[in-house]
Amino acid sequence: MFVAPRFQRATEFTTELKRRVNLYFESRQEAPTGNWHLFSKALILLSGLALVYVHLVFFTPAWGWAVLECLVLGLFTASIGFNVMHDGGHGSFSDKPWLNELAGMSLNLLGANITMWKTKHNAVHHTFTNIDGVDDDIEAKPYLRMSPDQRRFKIHRLQHYYFWFLYALLYIQWISYTDYRKYFTGKVGNVPIKPLTLLEHISFWSFKVLHLLIFIVMPILFVGFVPFLVGFLIYSSFTGILLAVVFQLAHVVEETSFLQAPPAPDTLNLEDEFMVHQLRTTTNFATRSKLLGWWLGGLNYQVEHHLFPNISHVHYPAISGIVKQVCLEFKMPYHEHRYFVGALWSHMKHLRSLGMA
Ligand SMILES: [Zn+2]
Repeated sequence: MFVAPRFQRATEFTTELKRRVNLYFESRQEAPTGNWHLFSKALILLSGLALVYVHLVFFTPAWGWAVLECLVLGLFTASIGFNVMHDGGHGSFSDKPWLNELAGMSLNLLGANITMWKTKHNAVHHTFTNIDGVDDDIEAKPYLRMSPDQRRFKIHRLQHYYFWFLYALLYIQWISYTDYRKYFTGKVGNVPIKPLTLLEHISFWSFKVLHLLIFIVMPILFVGFVPFLVGFLIYSSFTGILLAVVFQLAHVVEETSFLQAPPAPDTLNLEDEFMVHQLRTTTNFATRSKLLGWWLGGLNYQVEHHLFPNISHVHYPAISGIVKQVCLEFKMPYHEHRYFVGALWSHMKHLRSLGMA
């Protein structure tokens, strides 16, 4: 049984924040969804992935090049996730619903499933951010202790060293195990997934088979089993690290808050309204880097993303000034690490202090 935590009613802060952000788009007569900038980026990333894949599998480069290309393939995979799939899954890639569906389905092509992801990410993580017992993104028990409410084990003393190894497993575990666990249990943690339609069932299995053919069977046939295995491990580990680090730097750092949901049937009554809860549990990072911003698909502007998940990431740098100003006026928290290293350091310090405490 799942009992959803309850937020306080929205106050003037939420109303004013929404009003000013809406005003930004109205004054520029611009849609809050993606634009040519995003569509061209999607084309570059998808073509890049296809080119590197074709060269790796059909042209068998020398091993040094092959290792490098496996890493680049990981960069493209993660970046398609951040830029194309993520916006599509939130319905912010385009103002055309079919284009959002298509963009979201790039996740299926990369081995995971968009229907499972929508429950895990949109319904659970974006609503109940950093609430232990509900938010699946801070759930890595017993290997990692990410929230102070989670039980500590002796091994956690070393978690600020070995987390890299676990992050490297994220992608491979996601496509080979956790997706199936969600599918067969019909749940993300305790939260039930909306029953799948026949088309969604067919799509789940067809894409899993297609992924198997493209990313496993074909490479084995063309390059041989051992080179495939080495290449796939390099590719999937690097992708996992990239995905995990980007998720973690936004929420699991020293500055953010964590809460715990009591076991059902009790309800967690939150002290904050939805928008303020997002501000307390989320932080921006690497906002100074234009290059990282391009590659991360605005996921370095996580504060703006958690406040306005239906706005495409291409607009986040522009609206961040408005959000910051309203937060200042209403004396609300606005967490930000301007540099990537600062955020990574804060994540490691957070893991260290929870491991030692
Ligand atoms: Zn999101």
